[in-house]
Amino acid sequence: MELRFCPVCAVPLVSRPDTDAGKLRLSCPDGHWTHWDNPLPVLAALVEVDGRILLARNAAWPEKTFALITGFMERDETPEQGIARELKEETNLDAVEIKLIGVYEFMRKNELIIAYHVKAQGEVRLSEELVEYRLVNPEKLRPWRAGTGYAMADWMRARGLEVEFLDWPAR
Ligand SMILES: [Zn+2]
Repeated sequence: MELRFCPVCAVPLVSRPDTDAGKLRLSCPDGHWTHWDNPLPVLAALVEVDGRILLARNAAWPEKTFALITGFMERDETPEQGIARELKEETNLDAVEIKLIGVYEFMRKNELIIAYHVKAQGEVRLSEELVEYRLVNPEKLRPWRAGTGYAMADWMRARGLEVEFLDWPAR
């Protein structure tokens, strides 16, 4: 999101040096407000259904580009509740077991990824955001060198699986 005006007084924001952080920060010249631009947490799920991993393709992505289920947290929910809700909304699956894989940077989008291994059950019905899905045997997974791909790689290594990375960058 690009911010240009102070949300308090609507005056155009200016770039000011923050000497402690060694950065320029967009601020109100009258000191009402500073745009800290902190990373946003994003939840991600490596979804396991009957021993296979569900990967989905977003409608906005090119063909053959499949990734984990992701989404933003809502106010007043835990990350575990959030990823279970996103899973239900995007695939209709019910989470039965949720375990943290790890936390990963995704600086390209100023996000912080909180990745879970989610065992799920039910009948897959994709939301309009997603156009297709695959169920992949864990040993056939090919992670990508970015955010959720590193989560997938860590999950595989923890199971003694060999990790061979793909080339495309994704969340
Ligand atoms: Zn202001």
